[in-house]
Amino acid sequence: MTETIEHQGPTTFDGRDGRLDRFDRALRDLRISVTDRCNFRCPYCMPKEVFGRDYAFLPRAEILTFEEIRRLAGIFVGLGVRKLRVTGGEPLVRHDLPDLVAMLAPLRTPDGQPVDIALTTNGSALRRLARPLADAGLRRITVSLDSLDDDTFRRMNGVDYPVARVLDGIAAAREAGLTPVKVNVVLRRGLNESSVLSLAAWARAEGHVLRFIEYMDVGTTNGWRLDDVVPAAEVVATIDAAWPIEPLEPGYRGEVAERWRYRDGRGELGIIASVTRPFCGDCTRARLSAEGKLYTCLFSASGHDLRELLRAGATDDELTSRIGAIWTVRADRYSELRAQATDRLPKVEMFALGG
Ligand code: SF4
Repeated sequence: MTETIEHQGPTTFDGRDGRLDRFDRALRDLRISVTDRCNFRCPYCMPKEVFGRDYAFLPRAEILTFEEIRRLAGIFVGLGVRKLRVTGGEPLVRHDLPDLVAMLAPLRTPDGQPVDIALTTNGSALRRLARPLADAGLRRITVSLDSLDDDTFRRMNGVDYPVARVLDGIAAAREAGLTPVKVNVVLRRGLNESSVLSLAAWARAEGHVLRFIEYMDVGTTNGWRLDDVVPAAEVVATIDAAWPIEPLEPGYRGEVAERWRYRDGRGELGIIASVTRPFCGDCTRARLSAEGKLYTCLFSASGHDLRELLRAGATDDELTSRIGAIWTVRADRYSELRAQATDRLPKVEMFALGG
């Protein structure tokens, strides 16, 4: 079944190189999920009770090849994308991932600027892959680390994986020059809110940039409750009491994390407050799933099949106009409407969208 997207009249450009959606948000960032598989089972993303040994992940034939990803990435860059983030599932469980990075690294924006290539990982394969990824052209890396306490970390990854091996992976990333390493922490009340200060002390000492993420109602399987959310205001108060911090201006429109600076000059941290301080108004992100669907929001209930077009022989122009038309009619702002939303369509799982 080929879906039809009515072209709502002339697309509007911001006068330079990007398409704008219904809220004048330019298409700037593309998150590319290269696999729906992961070697962890974090309860807020892929609870092992649901995604057990028998869970049927996508068969190889259904996921995009590196060549298909490279082609689509080039088209998105032509439409204004400046940042590509490689994600999953866990992207490093996909074989030969440095080869994909090497294929993406030469991409240039219409005005000749290098495209910013970043990767988000759980860090479990970084001791082996950090150097090859950096050599392939990766510039920035984000590692998920929900606690320094080994027991808590093992509970939060759902597979009893030791924290020491992820810390070693972070060290390998730094040795490979992927600095500053950004470290994502999903806070879930009752599981790891007591880890805030120890993580902050560690990141201050090591020079890493922490980003605390409010637990979100992504997908349909994590049993999300508002009571389990540790609000950004509480995180700010906890840290400010230990080391005074002050807010920083966003680095660019659409930057996801609120930035805070330590007044003593020992670096900065970020807070991603999708629940208590939604930022849909500046959301410039699109998502490409492993099987080639375009999603315009993390909380989407459905996507737009680009793989079918690709494999049916569509030209770059046809793909460009399809993607442009999808973005131009985009009106997503789930987080801003979360409280009012009554008709809850089943949302696509976060690991399928690349977070
Ligand atoms: S909820 Fe959707 S529109 Fe809002 S910031 Fe997240 S991805 Fe963007």
